[in-house]
Amino acid sequence: MATTVYHVVCRDCNVESLVDTETAAEQLVDSHVTESDHTVEFDRVD
Ligand SMILES: [Zn+2]
Repeated sequence: MATTVYHVVCRDCNVESLVDTETAAEQLVDSHVTESDHTVEFDRVD
């Protein structure tokens, strides 16, 4: 079973993180958007 990694990156500052679940990625996006009002995206990295 391949390891899936999610790459979370902010378009408006240098916040960037790798997490291993989509849920964790969404939580990081939500918390950063809430605290900073930045544009944050994540992509799955296979
Ligand atoms: Zn940011």
